[in-house]
Amino acid sequence: MASYKQPCIHCGTYIEPDSRFCPSCQSQSPFGYLCPACLRPIQKGQSICSACGRPLFTACPVCGKQTFVQEKCEQCGASLMIRCQNPRCGVLQFFENTKCTACGKKIKSIKK
Ligand SMILES: [Zn+2]
Ligand SMILES: [Zn+2]
Ligand SMILES: [Zn+2]
Ligand SMILES: [Zn+2]
Repeated sequence: MASYKQPCIHCGTYIEPDSRFCPSCQSQSPFGYLCPACLRPIQKGQSICSACGRPLFTACPVCGKQTFVQEKCEQCGASLMIRCQNPRCGVLQFFENTKCTACGKKIKSIKK
């Protein structure tokens, strides 16, 4: 059975539809947006996550403007993801996460 590739919503690269992440831009949600805290699917424009109640808008740490909790700031394009500091994990995490959603280790904030 041929599987039809689908475009990553972040970079447009066509990837396998069962991919867990995009090999081109490293996105962990290539076909939709995920809540950065509970990793459940969210819709762009929702104000809070219906599963965990997390606000889905935040101030960009670079430009200070409000942006949806996606991988890059909607306003200035800065990456909102940081890599888990656990050397055996290294999964990209939303910058506001205090714990890695993959390995559970604490994440040091990049905020000054
Ligand atoms: Zn991509
Ligand atoms: Zn959530
Ligand atoms: Zn920004
Ligand atoms: Zn981790």
